[in-house]
Amino acid sequence: MSVLEAKPLEYVCGSSLPTGPEELLVTARKVWLGKTTLVARALPDRAIRMIGAWCFLDHYGPEDVSDAPGMQVPAHPHTGLQTVSWLVEGEVEHRDSLGTQAMVTPGTLNIMTAGHGIVHSEMSRPDKPPTLHGLQLWVALPDDVRDSAPRFDRYTDLPLIDRPGVRGQVLVGELDGVRSPAISFSPLVGADLILDPGATVGLGTDPDHEHGVFVVSGEVTTGGAVAATTDQLIYLGTGRAEVTLVGGSDGARVLLLGGQPFAEEIVMWWNFIGRTHEEVAAFREQWEHRDQDPGTERFPPVITRDERVMEAPAMPTVPLKPRPRRPPERPTPTAEGGR
Ligand code: MN
Repeated sequence: MSVLEAKPLEYVCGSSLPTGPEELLVTARKVWLGKTTLVARALPDRAIRMIGAWCFLDHYGPEDVSDAPGMQVPAHPHTGLQTVSWLVEGEVEHRDSLGTQAMVTPGTLNIMTAGHGIVHSEMSRPDKPPTLHGLQLWVALPDDVRDSAPRFDRYTDLPLIDRPGVRGQVLVGELDGVRSPAISFSPLVGADLILDPGATVGLGTDPDHEHGVFVVSGEVTTGGAVAATTDQLIYLGTGRAEVTLVGGSDGARVLLLGGQPFAEEIVMWWNFIGRTHEEVAAFREQWEHRDQDPGTERFPPVITRDERVMEAPAMPTVPLKPRPRRPPERPTPTAEGGR
């Protein structure tokens, strides 16, 4: 997955403080990924940039791709982050500059740790299944590991959550006593959950984490007044030892995300995460000059099916600084009084 907007914004995020419990509704914005795939991008949002180290969330499909190219994201670079790929239906071929070739398929978690630098492509093959539906998330790497060697990890046997009213898989971290073996570098949780219609479920969580619930399909509430439907996210803040999920009348499929509020300020632009505008600008320069002699060791070549490569857009001159978070909304006392 990649940012393919012509003029991507530069986000300054992280360094967030615990807020306590709250419920804030975020609606994902629709973004074209190239000419072929429309995605709902819930993170980063102008109000909620990150949930723990989760800093990017794209949901695509379900889309009938039987007469369409499907996912067509040619070779592009990443730094300082992990990509977490999770398919609901269909398949996507991943190739990277480590030499990895992997089919991303439902139920198998693929985590690419970019670290110092990596190049990858994500393409539907001509013989793809008819439906494409999936998610890609990015995780910001903390400073002590963000320059580490790139790696690719794949998990085919994730632990199951099975409680009255809810079933699912823990992708990363621990939820309600169920722990995933997946690689992570900061306290983090991520789970794919299917809620029965009308079910009310409480799942044990770390009160030091902030949490959010993204709706893949159906409708959900989290015990308060806010209801979210497909491509909406309820940001829950910190301070919850249990997250409550209430399935709508048709049930729901949700991604529960959480993590320790990310203490470092990061700069996120295009497909790079760094710590300053200048550092990200240098990553962009190194990507531009990757083919020059002597080239850059940061971004080795990747052989893709069609060998197309994505060029970086121009960098903005004004970074999008975080605005101070407004306090949780409380009901405003009405002037009328009485009834
Ligand atoms: Mn990517």
